[in-house]
Amino acid sequence: MKKFVLFFFFLISAWAEPKLKVVTTFSILADLVEQVGGDRVEVVSLVGEDQDPHMYEPKPSDIKKITDADLVFINGLGFEGWLHRLIKSSNYKGDLIIVSDAVHPRLVFEGTLIRDPHAWHSIPNAKIYVTNILEALKKRDPASKNYYEARAQAYTGTLTNLDHTIREEIDKIPPQRRKIITAHDAFGYFGNTYGVEFLAPKGISTETEAKVQNVVDLIKKIRKYKIKTVFIENIADPKLLRQIAKEGGATLGGTLYSDALSSKEGPAGTYLKMMNYNFGLLLKAMKQYP
Ligand SMILES: [Zn+2]
Repeated sequence: MKKFVLFFFFLISAWAEPKLKVVTTFSILADLVEQVGGDRVEVVSLVGEDQDPHMYEPKPSDIKKITDADLVFINGLGFEGWLHRLIKSSNYKGDLIIVSDAVHPRLVFEGTLIRDPHAWHSIPNAKIYVTNILEALKKRDPASKNYYEARAQAYTGTLTNLDHTIREEIDKIPPQRRKIITAHDAFGYFGNTYGVEFLAPKGISTETEAKVQNVVDLIKKIRKYKIKTVFIENIADPKLLRQIAKEGGATLGGTLYSDALSSKEGPAGTYLKMMNYNFGLLLKAMKQYP
């Protein structure tokens, strides 16, 4: 009995250790902060699993989450257009950390030249995110410096291994087979880093409707290049892609995780699982070419 009581007090004192309250804008970023912060951080994501950050409509409860936060992490590159009003409405006085700082942005022409926000789909960029997260956590909580550094280093090693695997496997695919159709232009950084061409009926945001001409061109390309597989995304309506696949004579290759993780039990519950899962589906599709 005495032992049990002691154990109980030990648990209470362990729980009493205050954790840094962190808010992130979307689920992929929440996981990256958790990988570095471990049990010294308590992370809340404003946009949840399988939700579309482009179309997010902030809730009144989000203001309180930001007001209560020790740190707020955002992607940047124009991804969270809805955030600044939230920050203004809150009493938040802490740092706003843009994790894509120092990433070389991919520029896309959509009427005007805009920066593609989906930088996380390239693992070298994810490593820059991790470095920025590490620096911010160390600055806010210097007592845990060694803890954060050890975790960031181990995680970066795992990221490097996956990066090498993806490069090795894609290098084996002839370049003319490396064409992939997705719902919106979310995989451009993956494409640039690993040498895959991604085509999509929608641009870098899911907000606008696909242009008819884009859809017609895409169907022509599927036929011309004999593309066998079309992918839907966890955050987008699959209807248009189903139609495109049908018209082009292709099949659906599954669901890619683009701007949000799956639930913890799903196939893309963490950033690493998401990258692994997407890469597995893409590789299978590219191997199916005639
Ligand atoms: Zn997106």
